[in-house]
Amino acid sequence: MPTATTRSDGRAPRTPVRMLGGLVGAVADLGGLVLPVSCPGCGAYDEVVCAECLALLCGPPWRCEAGAGRLDRMDGRPLLPVWTLASYTGPLRELVVAWKDRGRADVGGRFEQALDRGVRELVPALRAGTTDALLVVPAPSSAAARRRRGDDVVGRLARATARACSTEGLAAVAVPVLVRRGRGRDQVGLGARARSRNLAGHVVVRRASTSSIRGRSVLLLDDVLTTGATLAACEQALGLAGAVVIGALTIAATPSPGRTAGRVEVGADPV
Ligand SMILES: [Zn+2]
Repeated sequence: MPTATTRSDGRAPRTPVRMLGGLVGAVADLGGLVLPVSCPGCGAYDEVVCAECLALLCGPPWRCEAGAGRLDRMDGRPLLPVWTLASYTGPLRELVVAWKDRGRADVGGRFEQALDRGVRELVPALRAGTTDALLVVPAPSSAAARRRRGDDVVGRLARATARACSTEGLAAVAVPVLVRRGRGRDQVGLGARARSRNLAGHVVVRRASTSSIRGRSVLLLDDVLTTGATLAACEQALGLAGAVVIGALTIAATPSPGRTAGRVEVGADPV
């Protein structure tokens, strides 16, 4: 006989919270059917992301670290390799802004699909630098950004990346081990120096995760590469905990001034 905590069909009981969650999901689904949707990149009607804007994300990943001055390690080591799927300009920029800051969570699904394709091409290079199962670590969002977006959007991208690696035979797991500490504010609107100051000492590894990442290979994941300050702070925190960051992957990268974003084939410049 079913009890208060067990249903005859073996599923979890219908608590008020679960019922409310189901109702919200149903309303959201219904909204997708009746509310007009348009591509944030170009305004095309009735498309989450139109085929033309989606094509901007579908080329092979290319190396973009040369345009990010804050990635300079200042100790003679070469820049951290950073791959990206697109240039952060035009329609692609509109897609990212809509996804991150204008409530278009549905666009995130297209980014996950694009990452799935791009990561498969990256796996040979990632495998060369990985000694154990790869850890995919999302750059941490500020508390303000999480409140504004209502979701850990970069964490979703990290999970999609780890899934794609595993599908290609490179064992990988997404682990959100980095957190923002203290009063560092959201990076939006800050210049290069201000970004670095804002993050200095504010990105740390969760204390409980320190022992589990020591000696492990890490791929950092972030949405957009701008100055490199965020990735540099992440790499420093992970390095202090003994992890080895082999590279980073972003959805898009800001072209450096006076420089045309050029594609660099993965095979030409491995990790
Ligand atoms: Zn479009």
